[in-house]
Amino acid sequence: MAERRKAVALISGGLDSMLAARVIIDQGVHVEGINFFTGFCVEGHTRAIRDKDRGKAKRNNALWVAEQLGIKLHIIDVIDEYKDVLLNPKHGYGANLNPCLDCKVFMVRKALAWSFMDENDFDFIITGEVVGQRPMSQRKDTMPVIARESGADDRLLRPLCAQHLPPTLPEREGWVNREALYDFHGRNRKPQIELARKLGFEDWAQPAGGCCFLTDAGYSAKLADLWKAHGTRDYEFDDIMLLKVGRHLRPAPNFKLIVGRELGENRYLQGYRKEFISLHCTSHNGPLALVDGDPNAEDLVLAARILARYSQGRTDPEVTVRIAKPGGVTIDLQVAPLAGHEIPQDWHVGA
Ligand code: SF4
Repeated sequence: MAERRKAVALISGGLDSMLAARVIIDQGVHVEGINFFTGFCVEGHTRAIRDKDRGKAKRNNALWVAEQLGIKLHIIDVIDEYKDVLLNPKHGYGANLNPCLDCKVFMVRKALAWSFMDENDFDFIITGEVVGQRPMSQRKDTMPVIARESGADDRLLRPLCAQHLPPTLPEREGWVNREALYDFHGRNRKPQIELARKLGFEDWAQPAGGCCFLTDAGYSAKLADLWKAHGTRDYEFDDIMLLKVGRHLRPAPNFKLIVGRELGENRYLQGYRKEFISLHCTSHNGPLALVDGDPNAEDLVLAARILARYSQGRTDPEVTVRIAKPGGVTIDLQVAPLAGHEIPQDWHVGA
């Protein structure tokens, strides 16, 4: 009996990687999924924080996809290693701070290293890439770059567009039937949706901008602002998580305010009160805000007036704002809320 081959599928949680894995499973290959957590993933975290999304199922789409496929999923934390990909991308950035080509090379290389570990012993790697679908990483001229620079070479199979690409090792060796793979190309999603229906899928995730926040213009602007304010292109995990939450206002280079936009975000920001100066209104209902940076006394008065603008006392002559410092010291200030026109648009980072 022929040996049953094993493939690792990069699972983002979206439709394409789900279909790619399923097509290969249907050819009798043993498939397991791998999902990399970079810290910038759109998955789970933001949806779990925001109160307005309370009615929606808070599922992790990569796990959900693995469940639909009936395969094992390995979620691998790459937060530290990913820094070098984001900070020093050899192939540069896309429209925002998304280093898609380097990112794909990194992920395939990681999957390759993982899959060839003795205890795993996989034969090839699958991705849901489609020629011409993304302007940076999924072009006919960049797809070979991913195969080459990752070291996967012809062990990297893209089942959804394989017929547009030279036959890979699994195809040549007959581990998979090339004729039963696909020739999808371009940005049109219709063929994927038709295939999904044909394979019996009724539900799939539809991320608006891509698999991570780095493709988002607002998020990228906040990240660039953070680097400028910190005087270095570096970040900690908490920095990049906080960029996903709240309204970010920078009235001066030395400090910015992160103002919760709703209950769920206020609760999330509460978790950082031991590390940041925090502000909230005691005379009226209103949001919680964190101050990132090094504000002086005058800056804190301005911060309190900004916060008051977002409280229910915004039209009152005065509100009371409590400023809490990380050590436990608190100061109550009576301040006049800023009027809308006193908050210039350029204070809003990434809005
Ligand atoms: S969208 Fe984000 S996760 Fe996806 S390839 Fe680009 S940088 Fe990587």
